[in-house]
Amino acid sequence: MNDIPKPREQLFGDLWEYSTAPQGSEFVQYRDEYGHFIDGEFVDSEEWFDSTNPATEETLARFGVAGEETVDEAVSAARRAFEGPWGSMAASERAKYIFRIGRMIKEKAREFAVLETMDGGKPIRESRDVDIPLVAAHFFHYAGWADKLEYAFPGVDDPEPVGVCGQVIPWNFPLLMLAWKVAPALACGNTVVLKPAETTPLTAMKFAELLQEAGLPDGVVNFVNGAGDTGSTLVGHPDVDKVAFTGSTEVGKIIQKTVAGTDTKLTLELGGKGSNIVFEDAAIDQAIEGIVDGIFFNQGHVCCAGSRLLVEESIHDEVVSKLRHRMSTLRVGDPLDKNTDVGAINSEQQLDKITRLVGVGQDEGCDIHQIDCDLPETGYYFRPTIFTGVTPSHRIAQEEIFGPVLSVMTFRTPSEAVEKANNTPYGLACGIWSDKGSKLFDVAGRLDCGVVWGNTYNQFDPASPFGGYKESGFGREGGRQGLLDYMKHS
Ligand code: NAP
Ligand code: MG
Repeated sequence: MNDIPKPREQLFGDLWEYSTAPQGSEFVQYRDEYGHFIDGEFVDSEEWFDSTNPATEETLARFGVAGEETVDEAVSAARRAFEGPWGSMAASERAKYIFRIGRMIKEKAREFAVLETMDGGKPIRESRDVDIPLVAAHFFHYAGWADKLEYAFPGVDDPEPVGVCGQVIPWNFPLLMLAWKVAPALACGNTVVLKPAETTPLTAMKFAELLQEAGLPDGVVNFVNGAGDTGSTLVGHPDVDKVAFTGSTEVGKIIQKTVAGTDTKLTLELGGKGSNIVFEDAAIDQAIEGIVDGIFFNQGHVCCAGSRLLVEESIHDEVVSKLRHRMSTLRVGDPLDKNTDVGAINSEQQLDKITRLVGVGQDEGCDIHQIDCDLPETGYYFRPTIFTGVTPSHRIAQEEIFGPVLSVMTFRTPSEAVEKANNTPYGLACGIWSDKGSKLFDVAGRLDCGVVWGNTYNQFDPASPFGGYKESGFGREGGRQGLLDYMKHS
């Protein structure tokens, strides 16, 4: 019996090499430099920094660094627009602008997708099929709310906008995070000053060009470029009425201290250490797809990534073996290639952080498995990685790695799964895989996190609220709930 050879396992790409399927980028247009966008115009800057393409390490353009004076000019422009044309505009007219922005995003979708991929390193398949369509969907969704706000706040006769919003976003979904912030703020009648992340400011600047084309009144949306200091100046500006921040828990805590004791409203969308919980009665092949999507989508640079896999002990070996098999089909490389599944790590700094934490996992004695593939010689890349033999006390089970690295743990009972899933300071997202609806709903109700997916992962819809518990932050973005913090309603 033992002599009978096993049939050869065939994999996609086993017998032939894929041809390249490059998405052309010749048609995209961007300037060599962008200062800031204030009061409807691009303005110059005294200091500058470069944003690079992490897949090639080439400089794309240079961007201004906003100091106190520039931030102040942007906040003043937003105040004037709030007290002027935007504040006095009928809500139904405001809705038309927001709708127009959504429509124009759709018209320019391919250009935005290519630029997003060039500046941030994510696969074109994702920016084209996920990020940009969701950006447009957010504007359409909130355009619909603008003249129906009384239905969002039952019992409040005349909900009023908050005023000037200072918004700071991260680099993992640059234009999508911008949309999550700008669309509800405008729908409620506020004005905005937003700081994009230092490594990915390009699509925000193209968005500013779109706003000029859309004829949005001057000063309604302003952008100040720069790094953490600019963000800090913006969130601490005394004339900002509401701060909305998406980023790390560490910076979120600093911002919370800054606004403590003031009447500035605050929402924080912070980090996560999500779990995919797989029960033995789950459809395993379907769960494998969800696990792969949960941790390797966008190179794992996802706040709600399923970076911990909790698998019922009886199916651990089967799941790990199927997962390794599926991982071997992932194509890592040029983000502008339409076949690429895993693109470039967003920056050298992030690559260093992932490399360091993977080293910690090895030092702590966890078993590592990385896929065997060639990586491009230039650019920042990291092989999809899983660790088995992980326990909740290991650092790789507790800290957000924000890269394509999965920590696998086991459990024996639903209660143990819940206990382990909840055993982190975060509380953003989880996935549950089970054939039994009652088990799924029971476990979902016991998880301390803002989003729970059942037999799926990473599903987003503008009508559905998103946000965290515990150190993953507070406030919700998306849906009716996403309007609450942009209005005065109590
Ligand atoms: P980060 O370092 O906290 O930066 C986020 C933004 O804040 C960037 O624009 C950053 O500027 C700016 N910033 C840095 N220091 C600041 C300060 N003292 N005051 C004000 N602003 C400051 O986070 P990141 O590394 O870019 O992003 C990754 C994190 O975002 C992860 O933890 C991830 O989980 C989280 N995230 C959460 C969600 C969610 O919805 N919960 C969504 C996406 C990402 P520069 O980067 O330009 O220096
Ligand atoms: Mg960049």
